[in-house]
Amino acid sequence: MSKPLLEVIGLRRIFGAEPQLGVLHADLCLQESEKVSIVGSSGSGKSTLLSMLAGLQRPDCGSILFAGRNLWELTTRERCRIRQHQICFISQFTSLIESLTTLDNLLLAQRLSGVDFSPSSRDQAYQCLERVDLKEQANTPAKFLSGGEVRRAIFARAMLSEPKLILADEPTSNLDSQMEQNLFDLLIDICQQSDSALIVVTHNVSLADRLDRRLTLEDGILHGDPTHNPPRAESQPQLEQNKSLVLFSRRALLIGSVLSLVSVPVWIERNAQRLRNKSLLERSKLERLTFSGLGTELVDIKLDRKDMYIGSVTIDNLDVTQDLFLLPTNVEIFVQAGTAWSPFPAVWSLSSQSVVHVDRQRVLTFEFSDLPEKYTELVPGYLHVRINLTYLIANSPQPQYSPLERRDSFFVYLLPINPNPERLELNHFPGQPPLFIPMPPH
Ligand code: ADP
Ligand code: MG
Repeated sequence: MSKPLLEVIGLRRIFGAEPQLGVLHADLCLQESEKVSIVGSSGSGKSTLLSMLAGLQRPDCGSILFAGRNLWELTTRERCRIRQHQICFISQFTSLIESLTTLDNLLLAQRLSGVDFSPSSRDQAYQCLERVDLKEQANTPAKFLSGGEVRRAIFARAMLSEPKLILADEPTSNLDSQMEQNLFDLLIDICQQSDSALIVVTHNVSLADRLDRRLTLEDGILHGDPTHNPPRAESQPQLEQNKSLVLFSRRALLIGSVLSLVSVPVWIERNAQRLRNKSLLERSKLERLTFSGLGTELVDIKLDRKDMYIGSVTIDNLDVTQDLFLLPTNVEIFVQAGTAWSPFPAVWSLSSQSVVHVDRQRVLTFEFSDLPEKYTELVPGYLHVRINLTYLIANSPQPQYSPLERRDSFFVYLLPINPNPERLELNHFPGQPPLFIPMPPH
């Protein structure tokens, strides 16, 4: 059998202690052009999983081999290049720039990934629009497109970049069922034509079953073979939906019978639904910003004053069309001692203690000094350190909705203040031993 396109082993990304949220364990092997679906109830970790596969969110441990390269061992630049050319991520909230025409939206994506506006790329973009039945709308500003047309344009944009892998997180949600079906078919068709592999998250089990395989994420664990899953996993979303529909229509019915008007329950239902959708949408947007729209990287640790380590982390807003405000709240440093992680004090530097508008790349720094005399050495002479950074994220400086908390963990080998030269010798470093060695997630 040929080498898989994607190999995911023991992937984990956990938020919170009890209950543990996020992705607890995911293994997955995907061949070139293979198409799989992932279903699972809300909060089961689907978006977290996809954002790790897309190179947007660093796992706590585990590995993602994409075309044989470990995605999270690459430099940010290398990972970005893969994202630009080989992996296309479509989230539920992926949108177009409203003031540009449909065609320019496609060409802009090409331009940003380094391809010039040549006549041939324009022709290709036209062909892609034709393929999704949008040629007529090529010169229409995106703000005049309908919801379904926007989705089609996003698929056309994906098609234009000819990715090896398309990751689509609920790409057909909030559409009527006929439209959802048509778009889903279109997505499969596009993948078939461009020979792209596909991982698509959907709540619609019958659509999910059209692909080569259906996987289920249940409480953070990815199950491969649906026939071995407990039936709860596939029936739950439907069940929840039915339950709330029954409750909702009961309430509407009650009000309707009191007022003795047939049209009132319908009106109330529509308005309540609209309001609910609006606040759900705002909340989901913020969740997306917090968990997929923010890139963080530990870029440096230096010894500034005697005995004081200064760590620097870069913060990137990956979707500059959205405002993102971040308040650093907590830094925790843990040093491995035996099988335990012992905590040590650390603080955000004074300059990093206020709200930051992440409208461009920002750098935050944190400081720590007291580290233990005794520690477990995985690399001779080095401490094994885990750094947990926590921030609150909002989409405005005076947020209407409670900000969300995000935590990133970084692992490094760190040179102690008083290193042991004999231990360091064992590493055979060509020059000075580095102050820190960043580690891939493990
Ligand atoms: P799904 O897409 O299946 O609805 P998500 O992957 O968005 O689920 O989220 C899984 C769980 O993890 C949710 O309870 C969510 O609130 C939580 N979560 C996701 N990312 C973070 C984060 N960075 N910090 C804290 N909690 C998070
Ligand atoms: Mg999700």
